Amino acid sequence: MSTDFTRFTTASPDETAVLAQSLAQVLRVGDTILLEGDIGAGKTHFARSLIQSLQDVPEDVPSPTFTLIQIYDTQIGPLWHADLYRLSSPDEIVETGLLEAMDDAICLVEWPDRLGPDAPPTALILQFSIGADDDARNITASSPTPNRWVKRLEQCDV
Ligand code: ADP
Ligand code: MG
Repeated sequence: MSTDFTRFTTASPDETAVLAQSLAQVLRVGDTILLEGDIGAGKTHFARSLIQSLQDVPEDVPSPTFTLIQIYDTQIGPLWHADLYRLSSPDEIVETGLLEAMDDAICLVEWPDRLGPDAPPTALILQFSIGADDDARNITASSPTPNRWVKRLEQCDV
């Protein structure tokens, strides 16, 4: 059970990037963010903006649709970007090493429903949906462990 505690509205991809960059500043190794929402909702755009803001020289951040996982070195530690949409069986998650990485990396996971009971209870959940017009997005934050996140999200300067 998780309670929504913050709702952001962004009017453009650039505004979503600012939110992602701001959240990046309060992350640490051991954090997992579950990115929910339909295709085109902005999950990859958010992840890309967050990852690139933590790199001295921003790398290409392709969608991990086909590779399932992409791993980056960042200024604050290793970061795993996963897209579980094409996962064929729950066993495949174990093979990727993602569950272990949740302890010693930062993990951003698209289509986290595929994790089932393996979704970490400490994760921040960001739910993306298309807003009032094509370029607007509503982004709702929740967590089964709100205490881990509420204060940090208040620091997000958006
Ligand atoms: P997903 O990973 O959720 O399937 P993507 O991030 O790949 O979605 O695609 C989102 C698309 O929506 C991009 O083309 C992006 O430019 C566009 N977009 C329009 N407005 C926004 C916004 N406010 N925030 C994020 N993306 C937006
Ligand atoms: Mg995506």
